[in-house]
Amino acid sequence: MSAIAERVSSTRSRLQAAEQRFGRPAGSVTLLAVSKRQPASALRAAHAAGLRRFGENYLSEALGKQAQLRDLDLEWHYIGPIQSNKTKDIALNFDWVHTLDRLKVARRLSEQRPPGRAPLQVCLQVNISGEASKSGCSPRDTLALAHAIAALPRLRLRGLMCIPAPDSDFSRQRAAFARLAALQAHCRETGLALDTLSMGMSGDLEAAVAEGCTLVRIGTALFGPREQGEHA
Ligand SMILES: *Cc1c(COP(=O)(O)O)cnc(C)c1O
Repeated sequence: MSAIAERVSSTRSRLQAAEQRFGRPAGSVTLLAVSKRQPASALRAAHAAGLRRFGENYLSEALGKQAQLRDLDLEWHYIGPIQSNKTKDIALNFDWVHTLDRLKVARRLSEQRPPGRAPLQVCLQVNISGEASKSGCSPRDTLALAHAIAALPRLRLRGLMCIPAPDSDFSRQRAAFARLAALQAHCRETGLALDTLSMGMSGDLEAAVAEGCTLVRIGTALFGPREQGEHA
């Protein structure tokens, strides 16, 4: 087995153990492989081990890898910060966007999504820990923004996403994810058909599963440490 195949297998076991421990149905949490700063060969190895959903943070780096992996049937998720002059490349080259947090960007993505393709699947990112420097809309703006995004024709709003402030304490990890889950429930009560709660990374996967995530975004646990330094 390749090192990556072993990591894929142990991460799958970890996810299954969490589902079981917290009473979640087996297979109810989707594993998104976060492949930023990993070479195309690492994605190829992860695909050989059974993964086909990949999350990328940096647009030019992602486009380069997509070109090298055209022969594989992959689903591409954009999970990085979105500059408004880069929306076209995102609308053309990704299936999902998890980091939508402004209406202006949402409108551009909707206008630029080609008519022949499925709508762009999106999650609204919420700044759940209230950090001044973090991206994400504020919890109090979430409901109105979610309704505005859901009305755009070429986007399909699937749910909410967060990246809480790093915290190694399990109960505090859970508390942050519980706030996002409550916001999602509130959005659903007001008529939005949301089915995706994108939360949990290598360090807090169990807490996210405990609080009802439907998709975890896992990088380090699957691929090992990332290359440091400037991204492409
Ligand atoms: C890098 C990243 C991840 C994965 O983080 P790991 O700790 O390596 O699992 C998940 N989500 C986002 C938005 C990221 O930028």
